Amino acid sequence: MTLTEKVLARATGKARVEAGENVWVSADILMTHDVCGPGTIGVFKREFGPKARVWDRQKVVIMPDHYIFTADAKSARNVDVLREFAREQGLPYFYDVIDEPAGHWRFDPNRGPVKSQHGSRYAGVCHAALPQKGHTRPGEVLFGTDSHTCTAGAFNEFATGVGNTDAGFVMGTGKLLLKVPASMHFRLEGRLSPGVMAKDVILHCIGEIGFDGATYRALQFDGPGVASLSIEDRMTIANMAIEAGGKNGIFEFDDQTESWVNGRCRLNGTLSTYEPVERDQHEDFVFEMVVELDRLEPTVACHPNPGQRKLARELGHIKLDRAYIGSCTGGKSSDFLAAARTLRGRHVAIDTFGVPATPEIVGDLQTTLWDGKSVWQILVDAGVQMTENAGCAACLGGPVDTFGRVNAPLKCISATNRNFPGRMGHKDSQVFLASPATVAASAISGRITDPRKYCD
Ligand code: SF4
Repeated sequence: MTLTEKVLARATGKARVEAGENVWVSADILMTHDVCGPGTIGVFKREFGPKARVWDRQKVVIMPDHYIFTADAKSARNVDVLREFAREQGLPYFYDVIDEPAGHWRFDPNRGPVKSQHGSRYAGVCHAALPQKGHTRPGEVLFGTDSHTCTAGAFNEFATGVGNTDAGFVMGTGKLLLKVPASMHFRLEGRLSPGVMAKDVILHCIGEIGFDGATYRALQFDGPGVASLSIEDRMTIANMAIEAGGKNGIFEFDDQTESWVNGRCRLNGTLSTYEPVERDQHEDFVFEMVVELDRLEPTVACHPNPGQRKLARELGHIKLDRAYIGSCTGGKSSDFLAAARTLRGRHVAIDTFGVPATPEIVGDLQTTLWDGKSVWQILVDAGVQMTENAGCAACLGGPVDTFGRVNAPLKCISATNRNFPGRMGHKDSQVFLASPATVAASAISGRITDPRKYCD
């Protein structure tokens, strides 16, 4: 069996499962957020009754993150619905925007979009926050009401996005009927060259198979090249499995996974026992590809979909209006460090926005010092408009006052994951997906630029 089949077999209570088989899978974690949470709760109450209890309070995680730092009253109402539900159900893992359990978050114009407007429990973008808060464990099954739930495949688990109806059912029963996806095999060899990042790996893979090339399939990433990738690199790659239509992405378990997961479970007091899945001698794959990491170059997915792959060095003729560093894909600490290495001592030529994925990342950037100056300050000095309000922000457009939102038909280079028309706001804008290093280099020149130009 493949890694995905092994996780699903265990979660089904069977010795083995096969691709295409329909099986009842037990969930280890159900995650929802402010966009789909109210709908999921509505389905749950409608189907199980207004007084029903969730199947396991320890296994429901609620992380508001999408439409948070906006004056839009309907968005704030969504979070109110989550708060009421968490209180009513006594959920221990509700990462509220405010500390006052009976309060209501409202936009504070005096603090504006840049200064922190959240309480101490707020966790930020769910896919970056779930592992930070100790909710991702090898060998487990994670369902989330968000397509990028697949990010957690970096931790050797089966993680996939589900709709509100399925999530409402999981909330009541802890189970879901799933078709076992066939697995595609991506064997990574070698190691990345300076200036080339994990984002380039996944943009390359999607470019090879097309943005629908993995529809309802599992993407298995393994091989000797994985060891040279950090956990955050693996998250970036697994995150974009869905951009090829994948059901999930999954990595092998190794020492890095173990120490990361153990550290986070200990820190947060979450469940610390788990059983990873390891590769079998015989695995059935429907597709095989070797990715030679050392041969990859900085890569860009052009408008209007993530499969429009080109090399950054071929696109110098594309003039840009905007650059954006952020999201669950490109808003992690290592992403901002890569951008800062490029931007240090230089200045951006176009509007450039930086939105860390979680408050913890904000803290990292503000306390990591290079020659006595914080990475945060290095980015600000380079002209990047940084916000302490970690969240999804402009990655998916959001309300019109969202920080960094593309409100005009601009060309934007972005460290995010999705570039279908209108994704970051204006329907006639164009989004070019790239690594944080490529985004930073392009921000300096105002044109799409290969970041190796700035490698020391
Ligand atoms: S950062 Fe973007 S892709 Fe990630 S969860 Fe938020 S909206 Fe979705």
